Amino acid sequence: MGRIHVDYDKCEGLGMCEAMASDYFELDDDEQMHVLAEEVPGADRARVNAAVQACPVLALTLE
Ligand code: SF4
Repeated sequence: MGRIHVDYDKCEGLGMCEAMASDYFELDDDEQMHVLAEEVPGADRARVNAAVQACPVLALTLE
């Protein structure tokens, strides 16, 4: 189990996270990113971690 943390001061709404894991990250029409599920079960951890690593401004961490 992991937990997604977002630094919204860093997030620029670039959408890499959504592209890689759209069931966890979603951009709205104003390019504001929303986390759809903060808790990440072990089965999804590698996939969500890849999305976290893809953020170009390092706004995401998986704790
Ligand atoms: S990839 Fe990073 S900057 Fe882009 S929406 Fe996701 S958290 Fe924000």
